[in-house]
Amino acid sequence: MRARGRTVFRTGLKWATAVLAGGVLLSAAAARAGDGTVALTFDDLPGLSLVPDQPYVNYLNDMLLRGLKRHRMPATGFVNESKLDLIDRPQQIANLQKWVDAGFDLGNHTFSHESPDELGGVGYILDIARGETVTRELLAARHRRLAWFRHPYLETGFPEAVKLEINRWLDTHGYRVAPVTIDADDWEFAEPYDDALSRHDEARRLRIRRQYLAYTERTVAWYQSASEALFGRRIAFVMLLHATRLNADCIDDLADILKRRRLKVVPLDRAMKDPVYRLGDPYVGHDGVAWLERWAEARHKDLPWDSWQDPPKDIVDEYDRTNNDRRDTTPRLAPVGR
Ligand SMILES: [Zn+2]
Repeated sequence: MRARGRTVFRTGLKWATAVLAGGVLLSAAAARAGDGTVALTFDDLPGLSLVPDQPYVNYLNDMLLRGLKRHRMPATGFVNESKLDLIDRPQQIANLQKWVDAGFDLGNHTFSHESPDELGGVGYILDIARGETVTRELLAARHRRLAWFRHPYLETGFPEAVKLEINRWLDTHGYRVAPVTIDADDWEFAEPYDDALSRHDEARRLRIRRQYLAYTERTVAWYQSASEALFGRRIAFVMLLHATRLNADCIDDLADILKRRRLKVVPLDRAMKDPVYRLGDPYVGHDGVAWLERWAEARHKDLPWDSWQDPPKDIVDEYDRTNNDRRDTTPRLAPVGR
């Protein structure tokens, strides 16, 4: 999931010196390359759930995959292999297998979902290597290669030496970093949604779902306007989502939102052909910021922050309360593998 640094991503950034060549990005060819496309990525496989219950996690995977197939939306799932042993290992692996069987790609999201700030460069690299064992085998059985890496919390390493050490290891082991260019904070809605479900509070569940969908539509539109402000066009986006019951239940509505925003869903490797991704990642700092923010700072440009909205306050409060309540009163229902 992404929980760290949400409120600080517009201030206090420390930047490596980076010179970005912008001219090519405004060309007509580049505009056509990305026009109206988005790649969907789902983090924290085989499931981000407040409820450590194997049937619950199996169900959300089944519904998510069924919905993605129904709408012909390709997706890439990013795995935390530490989650395999948290419930029932064979069934957790079977959930990953379902993604591969559905023709979807899997990537590495580290073993334990820790930050490089916590583990240091060497520890973080060990955690990446430890996180690929099962995923690599599942892909190899289909003659496919493990090619993608996504940083937990979008924290890419600080200071610069640590970031470079991690990037060098990823390069030499055949990984590409999967950037994020749309992030609608779905994780923050997902745990209150799980909580409402587990308490059979139907009115609350439906209210959270409505708020989530409204927030997602507004946020997708904001990233489209941010892309236009920064590059004069809409890039091929990469959207961050999580493998949650909320997204499983909302997948038809999410498909509708993307249609209304004129975004055709494409595989990650196709979206990454947009030349904007050749800009790489100029940001060096502690915060988990998404890529348009990284590029905007490096180009000394503003994004349209006047029209940005954080998730609704009641959702933020519910997220905090849900986590505190669970920790204080119901340890058996502690969050799974966050
Ligand atoms: Zn994550």
